[in-house]
Amino acid sequence: MPSPRIEIDLNKIGHNAKKLRELYHSKGIGIIGVTKGVNGNPTIAKALVESGISILADSRISNIKKMRNAGVKAQFLLLRTPFLSQVRDTVQFTDISLNSELTVIKSLSICAIALHTIHKIILMVELGDLREGVLPSEVEEIVEQMLSLKGVELIGIGTNLACFGGIKPDENNMDRLSSIVNDIEEKFGLKMLFISGGNSANYNWFTATNNIGRINQLRIGESIFLGRETLHSEPIPELFLDAFTLVAEVIELKVKPSLPYGSVGQNVLGEIPKFDDEGLITRAILGIGFQDVAIAGLYPILDIQILGASSDHLIVNTKQIDLKVGSEVAFHVNYATLLSAMCSVEVAKIIN
Ligand SMILES: *Cc1c(COP(=O)(O)O)cnc(C)c1O
Repeated sequence: MPSPRIEIDLNKIGHNAKKLRELYHSKGIGIIGVTKGVNGNPTIAKALVESGISILADSRISNIKKMRNAGVKAQFLLLRTPFLSQVRDTVQFTDISLNSELTVIKSLSICAIALHTIHKIILMVELGDLREGVLPSEVEEIVEQMLSLKGVELIGIGTNLACFGGIKPDENNMDRLSSIVNDIEEKFGLKMLFISGGNSANYNWFTATNNIGRINQLRIGESIFLGRETLHSEPIPELFLDAFTLVAEVIELKVKPSLPYGSVGQNVLGEIPKFDDEGLITRAILGIGFQDVAIAGLYPILDIQILGASSDHLIVNTKQIDLKVGSEVAFHVNYATLLSAMCSVEVAKIIN
């Protein structure tokens, strides 16, 4: 087997997607499958579709193109507001996009008219996290302008929390979104198809509330792939936490001191590293480094300790574990490390 590699269990992903779909559906919320964490991998995307998900979302048009070209049968939503320089590809390759800039929406409109199509838009509203979204006070004005544009159709209102500012989805901000939708619908005599309330961080709000208001959609990535909500990284009942396993190989194994010796300067990260003196320890070097994946989100399954890494080497204290040159060492991953592994040309993707 190639090394390093990420082993992907499609059945576990499919199981998680089904369970989450049922859970959110129990209070009337549909879920969109977010594929950016797996770099738009078409085989994984197909597993999501087979588990009953009909809309897939990615932050990158290149990933959406890749899935389309591989014959993934779904509607595709672009998560990151379209670049002004990419409106043509947005209209051509995506069905829906999340938007927060009128200039971009006008450009999408012109492009859609030229291509004789209708591009669907979910307007994003800023509710505290301070990443994308129009201010609540501006929503009415922007909707009014959008309604005069041909080629684009406003199909929903959305928000995104817990991504930049760490703001939790709660009854306050979710109710705010519902009331914004109610106001817009009343003022313009419209009916919004999607009220897209957030992402995997909405789990705690969802389980705690007995009134979801108008929210009828969530965009879910991390919970499907890693089985956790994202505010506290707590496991969600009945989901698999280990659909992905990263494997790397031992390339050197020696007993050496735990404390580097000689005069101390900066390491490759520009830091002056600090180590505890534990005397002699068995140190393994694994053939994986910063250049391959985000090292901070690697969690060894065996009881060994990661001491640090450089661009191509990961150094571990093997503690009581008996490893040899050529042994394979497996890790659980967090979302950032999953994303980096799936994007890395150096990490083989082995789908089971
Ligand atoms: C990444 C992203 C999501 C999905 O987030 P998860 O934490 O993976 O569920 C949803 N919405 C937007 C706008 C995103 O950028």
